[in-house]
Amino acid sequence: MPFTLNIAQIATHVLARHSQLLSRDEISNAGFVGFRTPKLSRAMPTPKLTPDQIAEVSSLVAGYISAQRERYAARAHPLSAQQRAAVAAFFSPELLGNTRLLVLQRQRVANPDFYPALRGLGFKNLPDQSAMAAITFCDVVVSHEPFSDALLFHELVHVEQYRQLSIPRFAELYVRGFLNGGSYDAIPLEVNAYTLEGRFRSDPRRVFSVQQEVAKWAAEGHL
Ligand SMILES: [Zn+2]
Repeated sequence: MPFTLNIAQIATHVLARHSQLLSRDEISNAGFVGFRTPKLSRAMPTPKLTPDQIAEVSSLVAGYISAQRERYAARAHPLSAQQRAAVAAFFSPELLGNTRLLVLQRQRVANPDFYPALRGLGFKNLPDQSAMAAITFCDVVVSHEPFSDALLFHELVHVEQYRQLSIPRFAELYVRGFLNGGSYDAIPLEVNAYTLEGRFRSDPRRVFSVQQEVAKWAAEGHL
């Protein structure tokens, strides 16, 4: 079932940031583009999907994103003054004002509701949700751990991507990126987020506009 294999991979990787799989040193040394760990770099051979199938998967992912956003929005809170100060120079005041954060306690983001169907088809080793550090659902960021500045920065890049692309287009690019690259860390939306996060980590005083960077990557066809 090559088609559903891809659904499984996409669903579990969507917007997941596997930061705890990498030590801070590994991340710093790797420079973000092209970093590899055995777990992250396991590219799957991806079968060719028809345009209709890609549209269907993209739609499923977009629906999952919207549903999770609805689920967590009411419990999420604006950035604290301290969080805002740490990243304010890089993001628009509008984005910082509109984004909501939630750190889950003794709770995990639910798997996509098409997981049971996939298990029914024989998938035994669907990736563990606990491997995710944080997940961004448009303007709502849900985390399984306290936000470091770098984690916050990474997820805010995704918020900016959503802002420029909209949920359906973001989902489509995420799906296409996974199908083309065969792995989570080859998805251009993630490469963009890890690259900009890397610049922030390497020197938080060297300011740049994430809004302009995302627009540039999009205009040049890199997303
Ligand atoms: Zn990410």
